[in-house]
Amino acid sequence: MSSWRDNLIKTEPYVAGEQPKGGKFIKLNANENPYPPSPMVEKAIAGFRAAGLNKYPDANVAPLCEALAKRAGVDTDNVFAGNGSDEVLALAFRAFFNSELPVLFADVTYSFYPVWCENMGIRYECIPLDDAFNYKAEDYARPNGGVVICNPNAPTTIGRDLDFIRSVLDANRDSVVIVDEAYVDFGGVSSLPLLSEYDNLLVVQTFSKSRSMAGMRIGCAFGSKELIAALRAAKDSYNSYPLDSVAIAAGIASVSDESYFADTVGKITATRDRLTGALRDMGAELPDSSTNFVFARFPGHSAVDIYNALKTKGIYVRYFNKPRIDDRLRITIGTDEETDMLIENLRRILGNNC
Ligand SMILES: *Cc1c(COP(=O)(O)O)cnc(C)c1O
Repeated sequence: MSSWRDNLIKTEPYVAGEQPKGGKFIKLNANENPYPPSPMVEKAIAGFRAAGLNKYPDANVAPLCEALAKRAGVDTDNVFAGNGSDEVLALAFRAFFNSELPVLFADVTYSFYPVWCENMGIRYECIPLDDAFNYKAEDYARPNGGVVICNPNAPTTIGRDLDFIRSVLDANRDSVVIVDEAYVDFGGVSSLPLLSEYDNLLVVQTFSKSRSMAGMRIGCAFGSKELIAALRAAKDSYNSYPLDSVAIAAGIASVSDESYFADTVGKITATRDRLTGALRDMGAELPDSSTNFVFARFPGHSAVDIYNALKTKGIYVRYFNKPRIDDRLRITIGTDEETDMLIENLRRILGNNC
């Protein structure tokens, strides 16, 4: 006897950081920005004409893509925008990864990549990073159905230079290479300048981290006209109108405020470097971060115990119960006050032989 239950989706979904409700807590577990978005965004939303909501938004999100294109120095038809880079990445997997060969990505990287592959029936192969969590370009010089590089990588925090991306691209003239730049604004090197040389490169960015707009859901991609057209085809086979009118207005406002953006990113990177020093003083080991989070191990202490001890103090960080990284914590950079609280509590916890 078969049941409708046999036909339900079997994919193991991606699990995001917890979103604790109520009470006072310090949330350093989802790489969110601790600062509000630009005041221009506040103004754009407050002044938004609700009467205009009777009309569908521009299917290609043209006004936002124009603003993004101008900033990146490319044409509007080299830009795609969607509901967060998660949606953009999912559509890119659908649009580009239709080969019988496996898509390649690292073993320690954004854990949504294998989830999309499972969900869409895409073959994939996870390639181990080296012992210091570095990508090795030669690992990506083998037959494949596509490549996804997260740069700077999450959760490792390590960024690679353009020589590395160029070697991957040179070895993969016949596959699409996606570079996920969710954290690039915090100290990474963007692959945008390579777009003019490689028509198989897609660079994906988000407004969720450096632009403090995780709640608005805006992500974007830059690539050749052919890749962007394929992304639009994938989107239009699924939902014609993914980004809403309010998000488009808010996104344009954010892109228009370059100085606020630079200030916020500057504050976060300064706090990050201070936290990195404090953690090393406590004996923690962590690579220099090019992102808005750190990834630390605490020799002699169990990461999950520290995670739980911090949680009882109302401080949420991210622990991954996964091979190779279950001895580490991923800690988002908060405000200076939040970071002080974190440091103080960590000192106490580590002093208690946790
Ligand atoms: C946060 C994140 C994303 C997705 O962010 P959106 O909020 O969907 O734009 C994509 N890739 C990586 C590596 C991330 O950390």
